[in-house]
Amino acid sequence: MNDIFVSESVVKSQLDIADKLKTEENKKVCILTFGCQQNEADSEILSGICERAGYAETDNPKEADLILINTCAIREHAELKALSRTGQFKKLKEQNKGLLIGVCGCMAEQKERREALMKSYPYVDFVFGTDRLFMLPEIIKNAKTAKKRGVYISDLPHGEFGIIAEGLPLRRNSLHKAKVSIMYGCDNFCTYCVVPYVRGRERSRNSQAVLKEVEGLVLSGYKDIMLLGQNVNSYNGDISFPKLLEKAGSFDGEYFLRFMTSHPKDASSELVDVIRDVPNVAKQFHLPVQSGNNRVLSAMNRRYTREKYLEKALEIKSKVPGITMTTDIICGFPTETEEEFLETVDIIKQVEFDMIFTFLYSPRPGTPAAKMDDQIPHEEKVRRFELLSSVQNDIADKINESYVGKTVRVLCDSFENGMCSGRTSGNKIVNFTGSSKIGSFANVKITSSAAYTLKGEEI
Ligand code: SF4
Repeated sequence: MNDIFVSESVVKSQLDIADKLKTEENKKVCILTFGCQQNEADSEILSGICERAGYAETDNPKEADLILINTCAIREHAELKALSRTGQFKKLKEQNKGLLIGVCGCMAEQKERREALMKSYPYVDFVFGTDRLFMLPEIIKNAKTAKKRGVYISDLPHGEFGIIAEGLPLRRNSLHKAKVSIMYGCDNFCTYCVVPYVRGRERSRNSQAVLKEVEGLVLSGYKDIMLLGQNVNSYNGDISFPKLLEKAGSFDGEYFLRFMTSHPKDASSELVDVIRDVPNVAKQFHLPVQSGNNRVLSAMNRRYTREKYLEKALEIKSKVPGITMTTDIICGFPTETEEEFLETVDIIKQVEFDMIFTFLYSPRPGTPAAKMDDQIPHEEKVRRFELLSSVQNDIADKINESYVGKTVRVLCDSFENGMCSGRTSGNKIVNFTGSSKIGSFANVKITSSAAYTLKGEEI
């Protein structure tokens, strides 16, 4: 791969353009974000660049001078939602010719999607790809003067694209919770997933840059920090992911350090040891299993077996007692038979996850699974979904009941009328009576439980 880093001088020249744009006053930007945490993190960069260019942020598109739609292509539902919101801005554009509308994110990266979008929504002024965020000042400047609509997509050959820009401004959504991207893209090519096609091959930030960002957050009082990547276990900076996690969790002060997402084939014992041994590293592990059947796992190109997954999950649970374990399941992958599905139900029972995130399979254009015969009918996917949910609800109920009478450390996220709500190191939601300030820790005695929440009182 060529040099994956944008040079400092290029970043500086973009920020200089932003500074020049700042001379116009009272501008507002409305950023709509669809999809995953990576998109949310990207939107914080978009917001930071806009702030540098003089745009205050608004939730109301009607008062915006610039609307940015950060799209997701992972599931059909997210795509349709983004398109429907884009469609609603036609009137606004007719009423305000100076309004600029831009579309970015994963949908912008897919040629067919991008071309269809530009054709169906002629009032969209520009589209730009996931690795072109750093160019936003230039993109806005061009849109203000250009007669032509702008398309800013990586010009490197597919498979090599992917550029990391350090030093971009960020406007974070929270004063105590932060996301830190450590890597971008994915090399795994699971057959149902569009990520490698829209976000390119894996490329990692340098550990010094990541650690500097985490340290800055800890010093500024952030208490819940999430390291983000499509597959953090294959982080390939200058140190391994477990080492990065250990260092990022070792700054002075109390905070929860989380990470998302792990691929089971790459989750190492060293990583589990770091979770166990470093107090600030959150006692939570999200390990997406997707299916409990070996033939389906192979058809998904997941490159682990049911047995290997179980071995890893049980290692995590035995090394870190009380750890919260969560997973993702795809319901109704093409060709999945009833018996194969029941093996997924069985793995849920064996591991006893605290929570499962179940998704109805939706074919993503361009992926191998979308072309497979024997697509499962929607009603059947829903039936399997409901069965999984009911099995999981009982398991979650039982796990949460075991918290009653115990005292847990909770980071307060909200406070209203004497009622606080927050999360534990294991990411359990706790509603409690008390007087904790948002962003501070409290010891909470659990008095009752439901499947996905705990109730208690501050002690
Ligand atoms: S690991 Fe698989 S599911 Fe996850 S982003 Fe990569 S290709 Fe998609």
